[in-house]
Amino acid sequence: MNPSQHLDSVLGPALIQRKVEHRYRHRRTLGSAQGPLVRVDGRDYLAFCSNDYLGLANHPAVTAALHAGAERWGVGSGASHLVNGHSLEHHALEEELAAFCGRERALLFSTGYMANLGAVSALVGKGDGVFEDKLNHASLLDAGLASGARFQRFLHNDTDNLARRLGASDARRKLIVVDGVFSMDGDTAPLPALADLAEREGAWLMVDDAHGFGCLGATGAGCAEHFGLGQDRLPVLMGTLGKAFGTAGAFIAGSETLIETLIQFARTYIYTTAMPPAVAAASRVSLRLMAEEPWRREHLHTLIARFRRGAQSLGLQLMDSATAIQPIVIGSDADTLAMSDALAARGLLVIPIRPPTVPEGTARLRVTLSAAHTEAQVDQLLDALADLVPRTLTQRGVTS
Ligand SMILES: *Cc1c(COP(=O)(O)O)cnc(C)c1O
Repeated sequence: MNPSQHLDSVLGPALIQRKVEHRYRHRRTLGSAQGPLVRVDGRDYLAFCSNDYLGLANHPAVTAALHAGAERWGVGSGASHLVNGHSLEHHALEEELAAFCGRERALLFSTGYMANLGAVSALVGKGDGVFEDKLNHASLLDAGLASGARFQRFLHNDTDNLARRLGASDARRKLIVVDGVFSMDGDTAPLPALADLAEREGAWLMVDDAHGFGCLGATGAGCAEHFGLGQDRLPVLMGTLGKAFGTAGAFIAGSETLIETLIQFARTYIYTTAMPPAVAAASRVSLRLMAEEPWRREHLHTLIARFRRGAQSLGLQLMDSATAIQPIVIGSDADTLAMSDALAARGLLVIPIRPPTVPEGTARLRVTLSAAHTEAQVDQLLDALADLVPRTLTQRGVTS
């Protein structure tokens, strides 16, 4: 082989280019359980970057359920759901999730990425149309592209733009797909208006509630509950278990017919090993805690309000978010990295998010809050920001 075609020689330049663009991604290595206080790369931090919104990832009762589940079921499920990996534990979790979401049924997937890929591809294909918000999570965008349906992105939360696109489409089936809570901005989709539009245009609405589930709604059932949208108005509801639930996996909830369709046709459901039953057992305890301990959601919302008040009084640019995701928009990639590094030097971990994850020129610090944080810890972050903002930003004219 010509040495210039050697794998490393071909791949190398793109890596160098990423570094030049300040977009090279590094993995930090966690040396502790998830929580507000973590050990990362050998140093202790107060962290504002996990999606463990309710503080359940390291909850003793959830951990105990995983233990007990492993004692009863072993570790691996040993097979896919359709072969013989579907256990009583999985089944019970599905029934409890369906009841919690007010849907006829729910179906477990091993990850949210796979749930999205599987559901979209099972619902639409060639000759159909899929309409996605521009800021949808990568897994939804990939799902739309992989489905083979005509793929369109509409302007963020712009129902007029979507209505025009739906009206101009002659697709057989039309599927509208949005994040319930947008993962990099923290704002919510206008779901009632989208449900109206879907009805008017004969389209189906699918919502990925990875960040709303557990946090929003009177009982924590997420965006659907928050906006009062039942199965008839919001027929395809997706939630994940790796965020507020603190475990792993995901589910789709909806009608009997929807779920049977997914069991028959969702390839990411069929051709993969079922999640370990012990994880299902742990998730059942998370679900119970979510229902029995509303203080977690209430405390989280107190922290969100406190952080927003504090950040606004510092003149920081927040986004239109009432959720646990509270990004601070910095703008340039280099400034965002500098801010994150300066916070890290003070023992605070806040992850910088850069393009291509977010649009050019909108690099940000993605602050996420958890019910496991205290008010004092939020104040600690605000104090550090107060010290850093004048130095790193205003002198470069980033904040006004
Ligand atoms: C995290 C996330 C997913 C993927 O879920 P996993 O279970 O982590 O694969 C899907 N959609 C959104 C909006 C997410 O934030």
